[in-house]
Amino acid sequence: MSFPHRHLLGIEPLSPSDITAILDLAEQYVDLNRAEMKHSDALAGLTQINMFFENSTRTQASFELAGKRLGADVMNMAMQASSIKKGETLVDTALTLNAMHTDLLVVRHPNSGAVDLLSQKVNCAVLNAGDGRHEHPTQALLDALTIRRAKGRLHRLSIAICGDIAHSRVARSNILLLGKMENRVRLVGPPTLLPSQIDQFGVEVFHDMREGLRDVDVVMMLRLQKERMDGGFIPSEREYFHRYGLDAEKLACARDDAIVMHPGPMNRGVEIDGEIADDITRSVIQEQVEMGVAVRMAAMDLLARNLRAARDKRAKGVMA
Ligand code: ASP
Repeated sequence: MSFPHRHLLGIEPLSPSDITAILDLAEQYVDLNRAEMKHSDALAGLTQINMFFENSTRTQASFELAGKRLGADVMNMAMQASSIKKGETLVDTALTLNAMHTDLLVVRHPNSGAVDLLSQKVNCAVLNAGDGRHEHPTQALLDALTIRRAKGRLHRLSIAICGDIAHSRVARSNILLLGKMENRVRLVGPPTLLPSQIDQFGVEVFHDMREGLRDVDVVMMLRLQKERMDGGFIPSEREYFHRYGLDAEKLACARDDAIVMHPGPMNRGVEIDGEIADDITRSVIQEQVEMGVAVRMAAMDLLARNLRAARDKRAKGVMA
């Protein structure tokens, strides 16, 4: 299984075969996670540090679980409370991490590009757990695995990504991944919540939800990212739900076997009706969470193999 990357910073640098390599290995970890003994030693002896400069529930928990199930020593650094508040620069943080002999670093940061910057300063493998509006690669990979398992394939599907696309790193990573795997992607949302240079994405755009959902295989809902909005993007949450919230009536426009996805956290009654979210005949939201652990195990396993190979090569070079 080849995965020629030192870090996982985004979907952008990945090829279709890199994506397939992660998903195929993740399938094995789905089985391991369903077994009673959930341990492997793929990361034994390695140190994983999770640094979250922004809040997270699912992503941080699943990276932590993933590392522990693979035998790493996992530490969560509470960044909100730490020296970053005291004005420590990312470069100083990187020096600290190097001194601690970190092997895998999982980072979430509110600024687009910050994770990339950090990866250039540290000696370890870096995984982007979400940077600003830029990318959230493991979310797109877990979404891809969920779709592949539900639909039996990850190509030639019609997928509607709906809601607050402009502020969403989940949307961006998904548009990139689904495009690379040759799917038809539609973006559905009010003009105020669509990114400005939308033409360069190679997608179809709809402002009417019912039209946008017509005959799609997958309906992917997004959270309204209020923390990234600075005023008047929507008239009111009630009006937004009326026009863009997913309810049974709008979902009826999609294919009968269309699945419903949401990365979480959900605003029930704003972008999605709680009953649809909980309807296990349509919603795969819980499967997304399950796939999240497996995908993160696979990504860390592949990066750790490369890290060890690079270190072996360097050690042999020194000895020669
Ligand atoms: N949890 C996802 C993210 O971190 C989606 C969201 O917050 O709406 O981007």
